[in-house]
Amino acid sequence: MLDQPTIQSTLERVTDVFGVGSIVSQNRVERIDVKGTTVVLSLNLPVDDAGVKQRVESECREAVKKLDGVGEVIIMTRGSRPKLGAAGGPARGASGPGPMPGANPFDSQAPIEGVKTIVAVSSAKGGVGKSTVCVNLALALAQRGARVGLMDADVYGPSIHVLMGTNARPTAGQTREIAPVVKDGLKLMSLGFLTDKGQPVIWRGPIVMGVVKKFLQDVEWGELDVLMIDMPPGTGDAQLTLVQTVPLTGAIIVTTPSELALVDAEKGLEMYRSVGAPVLGIIENMSYFICPHCNERTEIFSHGGGREISGRLGVEFLGEIPLDPNLRQVGDEGRPIVLSDPGSPIAGAFLTIADRVRAVCGI
Ligand code: ADP
Repeated sequence: MLDQPTIQSTLERVTDVFGVGSIVSQNRVERIDVKGTTVVLSLNLPVDDAGVKQRVESECREAVKKLDGVGEVIIMTRGSRPKLGAAGGPARGASGPGPMPGANPFDSQAPIEGVKTIVAVSSAKGGVGKSTVCVNLALALAQRGARVGLMDADVYGPSIHVLMGTNARPTAGQTREIAPVVKDGLKLMSLGFLTDKGQPVIWRGPIVMGVVKKFLQDVEWGELDVLMIDMPPGTGDAQLTLVQTVPLTGAIIVTTPSELALVDAEKGLEMYRSVGAPVLGIIENMSYFICPHCNERTEIFSHGGGREISGRLGVEFLGEIPLDPNLRQVGDEGRPIVLSDPGSPIAGAFLTIADRVRAVCGI
């Protein structure tokens, strides 16, 4: 019988990050969740040394995997939060106001009332399909019964309104300033609802930070199991504002298998880790191509890199989505594939990823 005490006593054999005692006796194990055959371990490892973290994570994984009845082991690691100005700490936006030197930039974090988990969907580069993945994953989570909000923090190129096929305008809220747009069971907020079509958004850091904060704090999100946030590509003011404003449950990194995209994904991953936000896992998009005529599979960008960097950096590989012209077409038409073609293999892939995200986040 797979239970928490059994898992905990196995983890007593894993030596602590500082080499004295075990990770259990040093209180590094924050949570142990068991869902079917999947075990999710939440660890707090207060060291900056990636090698030490990896050693502890892989020893935990090996130990738990040996137990009877264990299928998958998912490890979420929180790290030490660097003080502002410390080496390797979060860069302050060049134009952003940022907190006062010496202050802890995370002191301003406050949960959003009623919102259980907050997940950022990120990519290091634009055009890897981050928004497409974010929308379909949000819908897949909703199909599994979760109450889901979807916030577009990609303020420079908002696309959630297009992908969700709505031009509705948010209205005034009753308990908060803005009521989100509700479509297909999701609560939505995007700058695309507020700006005129085709109008470029050329904003400097402080305004970007203001918009992200406003969407987090002044939208009537209500009771949500998860708020999914479509982040702008790269690492900048929006990311910093997010981790300073709310306690982020974690980030999902979307990448394509091309080598350049993978190198950048690694940088994005380190950024989240350096500010103490767990990386929940990596999704590889445009992973391979299945010919609609002959069903032959082609590895366009040498598929599998996402899984490889996940292993190397000790984060979960959440799944892969193939390159599919139909996904692009229905996306452009505002008919997400999870809704418009629910029986397709791609919709199935999104549901599988959603189940892994639910296991990792305890949704
Ligand atoms: P990002 O948010 O990373 O900039 P988008 O989600 O806007 O990327 O996607 C960029 C383009 O690629 C869109 O036209 C989208 O429909 C298309 N796209 C995304 N994922 C796939 C895929 N797996 N197969 C085919 N086209 C895709």
